[in-house]
Amino acid sequence: MHDKSVAQLGEGLRDKQFSSLELSHCFLDRIARLDGAYNSFISVDEDAVLAAARAADERLAAGTATALTGIPIAHKDIFCTNGMRTSCGSRMLDNFVPPYDATLITKFNRDGAVILGKTNMDEFAMGSSNESSYYGPVRNPWDTTLVPGGSSGGSAAAVAAMLAPAATGTDTGGSIRQPAAFCGITGIKPTYGRVSRLGMIAFASSLDQAGPMARSAEDCALLLNSMAGHDPLDSTSSELATQDYCSQLGDSLQGLRIGLPREYFGEGLAAGTASCIEAALKELEALGATLVDVSLPHSHLSIPTYYVLAPAEASTNLSRFDGVRYGHRCDNPVDLHDLYTRTREEGFGAEVKRRILVGTYALSAGYYDAYYKKAQQVRRLIKQDFTSCFEQVDVIAGPTTPGPAFALGAKSDDPLAMYLEDVYTLAVNLAGLPGMSVPAGFVADKPVGLQLIGPHFAEARLLNVGHRFQQATDWHTRRPASATGEAV
Ligand code: GLN
Repeated sequence: MHDKSVAQLGEGLRDKQFSSLELSHCFLDRIARLDGAYNSFISVDEDAVLAAARAADERLAAGTATALTGIPIAHKDIFCTNGMRTSCGSRMLDNFVPPYDATLITKFNRDGAVILGKTNMDEFAMGSSNESSYYGPVRNPWDTTLVPGGSSGGSAAAVAAMLAPAATGTDTGGSIRQPAAFCGITGIKPTYGRVSRLGMIAFASSLDQAGPMARSAEDCALLLNSMAGHDPLDSTSSELATQDYCSQLGDSLQGLRIGLPREYFGEGLAAGTASCIEAALKELEALGATLVDVSLPHSHLSIPTYYVLAPAEASTNLSRFDGVRYGHRCDNPVDLHDLYTRTREEGFGAEVKRRILVGTYALSAGYYDAYYKKAQQVRRLIKQDFTSCFEQVDVIAGPTTPGPAFALGAKSDDPLAMYLEDVYTLAVNLAGLPGMSVPAGFVADKPVGLQLIGPHFAEARLLNVGHRFQQATDWHTRRPASATGEAV
């Protein structure tokens, strides 16, 4: 059961081959037996899982089930869940039990999906390796000495190890696509504003976007159907009508123009990764697509631009964690100043503090024009690069990451080396575009991800390309040895 896709599980539930209760037990058992090796979950509330599964079974019996009714889904611990601890990977929120659900959770509940648990993540979603979590690092199921990528590393590892059929993640600068690539699964970051941010703990509000992570494009489409849509409670959510993201999956790729930005294939790209991407592109050509050379001339500015804007927004968003309203509070403060400083000193980890310092500096009087304003101007240039590209092509393709998963600890003392991991993913967030990562091969048994980028609101097109690619290849069906051979 645990190896089936969301689509297959939905059919099995509706055909009464198994119940949601049985399915939920299957995943709870796997988590209990296997997650010690990965540390992909922060919280699993068994009673709540079983209660939701029973309710789903009633709905299945009544014939009012949707595509997701009874399907257990893991959620990144950045999404507020009513009555269930939501830590955001931080000591600051270790004791935080939200009194409401994120809109995305409300939508999954509406459709009868089961909340399987809350997944581990980099603290406040800041990171590319999942080593900055207060709850310890997550390990990559393909090789537990490697990082799973970040910041949605717990979600990616859980899906890769078949501890969950699918999960949610968030992507501010690559945190859905990069861990999807490192763990050999599929993940899509929708257009900014496609999925509500209400109840998703804010990191950098103009960049943050939630999306699905699963083992196939088809499963991502099923999840996106539930998640997407306007939310009157999120003023940045788009009012554009959603579509059925499954409806174009099977469309032919004949005549599709795929742009290959030369900046994504140059220096810094590992040779093994480059060969996998080239082979994937040949496959897409064989499916009828035309490859076109394009240029994104401001690509080299995306790292400095992002690493001014994201910390600036983070520094203001994180000012709310002051020990007064909710979350961690230091013991016996002598006065208000002591309360603020000790609470924040104890509650935040090193990377979060680094971002707050950088962001506060960039926003301070006298530096604002030199850093924040300048970065906003460059952001516009980066966005314009994509606009001109999409006048010539339908989709842009390239690697998701410069190389495959690296060893735990390899970059944790070198923030700059860590930031360089994001070189191919950041621009997509700066431009607000949808981006996807699809399994496209292995380098020395480590998964490689192909990145697909589309114009605003072209999620269905990306999922179509991903699905057709997955019909022609079997990379997405490979499973890590550490998670197979189980008698469940
Ligand atoms: N790695 C990037 C960062 O650390 C992106 C994180 C994300 O997308 N949440 O900011």
